Amino acid sequence: MKSCLDGMDGALTDARNPRQATMISVEEALKLILEKVPTRPSELVPLEALTGRVLAEEISSDLDSPPHDKSMVDGYAVQRNDLAELPVTLGVLEEVTAGEVPRSAVQPGQATRIMTGAPVPSGADAVVMVEQTSTSSDADGIEWVTIGEVHLPDSGNIMPQGTSLRAGDVVLKPGRTIRPLEIGLLAEVGRHQVQVSEIPSVAVLSTGNELVDVNQSPQPGQIRNSNGPMLGALASRAGAKVVSLGIGRDRMEDLRQAISQGLQEDVLVLSGGVSAGVLDLVPQVLQELGVEQVFHKVAIKPGKPLWFGVATTGQTLVFGLPGNPVSSMVCFELFVRPALQAVAGGKPTGLEQTEATLHTPFHKRASRPTFFPSRLYLENNQTRVQPLPWKGSADQRTLTDANCLAYFPADQNQYDAGDTILVYRL
Ligand code: AMP
Ligand code: MG
Repeated sequence: MKSCLDGMDGALTDARNPRQATMISVEEALKLILEKVPTRPSELVPLEALTGRVLAEEISSDLDSPPHDKSMVDGYAVQRNDLAELPVTLGVLEEVTAGEVPRSAVQPGQATRIMTGAPVPSGADAVVMVEQTSTSSDADGIEWVTIGEVHLPDSGNIMPQGTSLRAGDVVLKPGRTIRPLEIGLLAEVGRHQVQVSEIPSVAVLSTGNELVDVNQSPQPGQIRNSNGPMLGALASRAGAKVVSLGIGRDRMEDLRQAISQGLQEDVLVLSGGVSAGVLDLVPQVLQELGVEQVFHKVAIKPGKPLWFGVATTGQTLVFGLPGNPVSSMVCFELFVRPALQAVAGGKPTGLEQTEATLHTPFHKRASRPTFFPSRLYLENNQTRVQPLPWKGSADQRTLTDANCLAYFPADQNQYDAGDTILVYRL
């Protein structure tokens, strides 16, 4: 997978904002954020609670796998030399099922009935599938197996001891995010608990006098706080523990109190109050509370007013996201998500990127690089992308049709149907 830093433009000038002549690029912003990520303590966690956690220790195997030369089929362990002329009839020595060990070596003219996973007896160098055999017994009760036509792979249907693992091999490295697949491997090498990075905690604070809680009916001039629940869900999906701080009013004292509480966590995500409005007080309060600004404003659409800083303790990363729900979402996915991956001890890969063919022409209005809510789909074996008829940053209805952000770089404004562009999967 490509990194979230790939494919971005350099710094841009914002002609309409004389107070801040240059905005930093997305790439620069991400670099500055990741430089501030503190090292994370680790904790011992049992196997069954490891999904999604990030490994903080190196894992080695305590055994060979398979632990013995093992049969990969149900059939008869034989000597290949006995198969030179077919059909051949061999005397059956014994039966070995998985979990048992063979008692006798296989000699010329002999075969051992063996089940998948069982250790291959010494002397045998191939296992013939049971489907390619027939059996009979004689009057003395001796069992015989007749082998007609044989299709034997080079392996002889035997997986040699230690093919997939040798005792002492390093099987997983720190920084690896644990999926159920890694849990299977950890179980195989006998690790019922491992050291993983502690889960980061994320405080979410939505600011704005116009906001009311989800379960309230907005009065004239008011809207429901949709960013709070959405950002909480994004943080939780990114593997963080969410501390919801609800709504903060655009008043210095209220913000001071709520932000102080948020600074107890590893990451504080604010929405609203970071643009140029008279009540955009968030940067001022953050600085008063000892949060050092690293940057304010990024050359990106949507999401230009993004604010980022670090508490003087060095422990809390603070993101001030623009209030518009779509801007908030885009900034979270492009900046907060990789930061959380890094805080959790993993690789800050960000959103997965892929190339796609633009389905309809697209005109980019801003000079800034644009991340446009779009739909990615497969048609005639081609990955296509359709920018959505999106009605601006607050249009959450259309946003729910999106499964990716189409990326339109700064240096080109007109894109034609059939152009290959980069998209970020949501
Ligand atoms: P601001 O960044 O505070 O200037 O807000 C920009 C726009 O986003 C305004 O239209 C706000 O009403 C809207 N907005 C701010 N916070 C939220 C929120 N938590 N949920 C939904 N919309 C919001
Ligand atoms: Mg506001």
